[in-house]
Amino acid sequence: MADTDNSSVQQSELDAIRIVLVNTSHTGNIGSAARAMKTMGLKHFYLVDPVSPPDGKSHALAAGATDILGNAIIVDTLEEAIADCGLVVGTSARSRTLSWPMLDSRECGAKFIEEAPKHPVALVFGRESSGLSNDELQQCHYHVCIDANPEYSSLNLAAAVQTLCYEIRMHYLAKQRAPYAQNTATENEYPLAKELENFYEHFESTFLQAGFVRAKHPGAIMSKVRRMFNRTRLESQELAILRGVLSSVDKALNNAQSNSEETPSKHDGK
Ligand code: SAH
Repeated sequence: MADTDNSSVQQSELDAIRIVLVNTSHTGNIGSAARAMKTMGLKHFYLVDPVSPPDGKSHALAAGATDILGNAIIVDTLEEAIADCGLVVGTSARSRTLSWPMLDSRECGAKFIEEAPKHPVALVFGRESSGLSNDELQQCHYHVCIDANPEYSSLNLAAAVQTLCYEIRMHYLAKQRAPYAQNTATENEYPLAKELENFYEHFESTFLQAGFVRAKHPGAIMSKVRRMFNRTRLESQELAILRGVLSSVDKALNNAQSNSEETPSKHDGK
């Protein structure tokens, strides 16, 4: 009775979700995060440049979740961990100078379950000492902040993983109970993180050539450009149009350049 059995569909939603820890210092936190994930039914675990790889302490704290830990994928950069994801949410205990589209923890859980059937989705956690860098936060579509005590809002890393994975699970279970009511998710297709990165690189190189982005200071303008496009949550078709626009600007710039090279100046042998 495959039609009435939702479990395989639902399992594939949790299957599309990955938890990414960036540059974690304490190996115990890696183990506790694995345990937090497993209790909520999540299993895809990425470690970006951990200060030390998982060790005995990680295994001790993972308890029965050593399978999650053993299958963790270790990569060098956040970019590698999220390249094939269509939705990336970064966690942050505090507001940053550059404001970004925000979700609360409940909205974050809902968004993950809504989008998981379409593409891999990633939830990114920062360093124990300093969280995620601005550069890392700018690779995310949204930021999520757990609404903790404003006077003491920084949770232990694994506790933050537990809280947000719990919210994901609550939405997963709610959808299981009412599969049709929530199946009205938009049918839009979103680009993957690596496609967006390619677009930002293209944008920067085109407008560097045009002289709009200054070679010495691309960062400031590119941060705002990223934020603007993130806010609109570009769809794949829209991204393709923008790539086309950039290519036509590239072409016009190249034509203008070759015309100016071909046009003899008044000093050219006349
Ligand atoms: N001192 C750091 C906080 C590090 S806590 C800072 O000021 O940013 C380690 C990680 O736990 C954070 O990077 C984040 O991933 C997660 N975390 C802790 N508290 C959180 C909160 N209130 N909301 C969202 N994530 C939180």
